[in-house]
Amino acid sequence: MLQRVEATRRALDERGLEGLILIKMENIRYLTGFSGDGGYAVIDRSRTVLVTDGRYREQARGETAEWDITIYERDPLKTLAAYLTGGRPWGLEDTATLAFEKRLSDAIGEAGVVATGSMVEELRAIKGPGEIEAIQAAAACALQAWKSFLPMVQPGVTERQLAAGLDYRMVTAGADRPAFDTIVASGPNASMPHAGITDRELREGDQVIVDFGASKNGYNSDITRTIAVGEPRGRAAEIAGAVRGAWEAAFSRIEPGVPVARLDEAARKHLEAAGLSEHFVHSLGHGIGLEVHEKPSLSRFSVETLEPGMVFTVEPGVYLEEETGARHEEMVLLTEEGPVVLSR
Ligand code: ZN
Ligand code: ZN
Repeated sequence: MLQRVEATRRALDERGLEGLILIKMENIRYLTGFSGDGGYAVIDRSRTVLVTDGRYREQARGETAEWDITIYERDPLKTLAAYLTGGRPWGLEDTATLAFEKRLSDAIGEAGVVATGSMVEELRAIKGPGEIEAIQAAAACALQAWKSFLPMVQPGVTERQLAAGLDYRMVTAGADRPAFDTIVASGPNASMPHAGITDRELREGDQVIVDFGASKNGYNSDITRTIAVGEPRGRAAEIAGAVRGAWEAAFSRIEPGVPVARLDEAARKHLEAAGLSEHFVHSLGHGIGLEVHEKPSLSRFSVETLEPGMVFTVEPGVYLEEETGARHEEMVLLTEEGPVVLSR
């Protein structure tokens, strides 16, 4: 944790800021170790203070050895304000509400408060060894669940039953909870990239997109498989094949120093050759860790560069309206030597 605090202090110095007020729980967890659901943190050149309420007194003491802990009674802002000294502006995370920002800037006075964008999120994009292990553990829960789930995929079973079955299996495999609402999109529903679960019963010949992940000790996994019930109908098999090809095309370009936009372009180019690129309606992938979607964003508009220690998904998809769809999503760790797939 101390290394992370030092990296944050360097980032604050570069921006000429007095300190940072943290309100996003994933960032607070990253810097302090505290895994509770409510709290704030203040970090400046000499102090690191976690401000939370009485419910978390014991938990905070156990989890945040290197931080001072202050318990607030009624108004966290009054407690926070006591730490917001010094002549330079204070940084505040973007997720603050307008009302919170207003009260805070009143409390700070002349030095003022500025939005810090994704300062801590940028640090979080490069994972340490402990984080990689935690992500692997979250992936292992999902993969173990998937194995025993597959025999459930039969004609007559509903999407809702399948999603519940997979969620149950992830938790019995050791997950704290599903990382997000599991997607089971069957037959024509597979044409919607983020379809909601329905009571539709699976039919022979359906293509089914299953997008699922487990959350364990704060870290997440995220995997998508497209499977067919019996012999796939119409263009389903062709599309699934093209998506796999696009995945391989993107994966083969992964190495340190490559602009992430190149990966998205590679997948798109592959689909273009099959006349399908206009049906690839989302970006190629996203970083994953304490949040399911975090930095880097693997979009063609992205300006980031691949670096060792990044963990991200690669998930091209093709969606034919009212007909069918396919998506293939794997989690990839980039090491100095190259990419490693964590979700197999
Ligand atoms: Zn997913
Ligand atoms: Zn994803």
